Parts: sequence; C-alpha cells; structure tokens
Amino acid sequence: MQIVRAKYENEIFYGDLHEGKVTRYDGSPFVVWENTEEVYDLEEIELLAPVLPSKVVAIAKNYAKHAAEMGLPEYSENMPENPIIFIKPSTSVIGSGQNIKYPTIGEHVDIEAELALVISKVSKNIDKNNWMDHVLGITIANDLSERVLQGKTGHFTRAKGFDTFCPLGPYIQTEFVDSPELQIKSYVNGDLKQDGNTRDMMFKIGEILEFISSIMTLLPGDVILTGTPEGVSKVERGDEIKIEIDTLGTQINTVE
Ligand code: MG
Repeated sequence: MQIVRAKYENEIFYGDLHEGKVTRYDGSPFVVWENTEEVYDLEEIELLAPVLPSKVVAIAKNYAKHAAEMGLPEYSENMPENPIIFIKPSTSVIGSGQNIKYPTIGEHVDIEAELALVISKVSKNIDKNNWMDHVLGITIANDLSERVLQGKTGHFTRAKGFDTFCPLGPYIQTEFVDSPELQIKSYVNGDLKQDGNTRDMMFKIGEILEFISSIMTLLPGDVILTGTPEGVSKVERGDEIKIEIDTLGTQINTVE
C-alpha cells in the first residue's frame, strides 16, 4: 500500500495511492481508518509531505564511502560504538514537488538522498529484532545540509535544520522487509550524483531504532533518516533534485 497526504480545495487528508488515483481515508493511518468512497485523480489534488512528524531523527555517516568523502576514511574500520544522531525540526519537512528555500546565509548546500522510516506507534526501548512492528512504512528523504556551517560549528542541527531542508515522499510504502536492499539514486538537473544501496548501511535499521528509542520516545508519524551513500552533491538556486529509491517512487524538488 502507498499512503499519501493530500490537499483538495481546503481539506487535507490521508489516502491510498493506487494506479494514479487516491482513495481518501476517513481518519489517519496512525490510528484506525477506513477507506471512503471518495476517489481523486492525482491531477486534481496537491500531494503534501506524506506525514507531519513531531520530530525527525537522523543518523550521520552510516555509509563507509560517504564517511570517507567527508574526511573520515578510517570510519569503516573504527566504527563508533553508537551511531551519531541529530534532530531535524518538524518545520524542515516539505513534500515532493514543493520548493527548497536556499538559506539567505547559505554558501554550500549539499543534497543527501536517504531511506526514511515512518514510526507507527508510541515506541520506547524497541528491540532491534522487532523493529518492523514499530514502523508503518518507508519513504524517500533528502537530508539537505549547509556544509560551511556544519564545518565551522560542528552543530548538525543548525546546518541541517533550515526550513524546507527535509523533503519527504512522495508516499509511504507499507511493504518492506527486515534487511532492505534498495538502490538509492539522486540526480541534479538530470545528472546522476548518488548511486548506492541500503545494504551498505553500517548500523542496520534495528540497531538504529533500538538506540534512538533507548533515549527518546518515538511517536506515531516520527521519521528516522538512515544515512546517505556517497556522492553527495552541491546544489544552487534553480537546480532540480530528483531522488529515486526502489519501490518508493521519485521525489522531485526545485531549489529557490
Ligand atoms: Mg544525512
């Protein structure tokens, strides 16, 4: 099932995307819902971010080749005991098709294509072997990052927390497996930049969720970003970013 959030006239609702049509839900996929009889063509609705999280928790440097391109070639042999985590605010979330706003103080903004997890229920102390019980589905994320600020201060949340710096979607795919091997590709103006696979994550999904939920309670709709493969690429105003992940569709955003 592919879950979307959409706007039609003045109403916002969740729905089920199937063969180019959206069947509206009565309710939210995080509680209990039923399909209604209302069906919309994609052309007549505006797709929004598929979820509005209370928080986005992200993992840094979870692919050895990306750690190497960020100046940490030894990372694959000397993995830290725990993943490095940071928060992206809920206000950084936008949907596929919405514009990314280049920060006024921005100098070097990179894209990071990532697999994202959407939490299904209130979750604390998740057992890594049971992680699938806590996840509604998976989607595409772009962890946009301002590298000058990141390098200058080491504060990830400042560098990665700007408004619009977390495009999600287009939809939440509710079919997923325990050890996904999904190809992640990103393009800037049609040129391929990243071409990695989720099998190369150093901390696996269960370990990530066990660690984060040992610290903070995860709420329904919270989003976890699992790190980016190598090839992160600088973007400028006017660029079109396209990210594709197997079974998750295509996310397209323009920088303004
Ligand atoms: Mg990232």
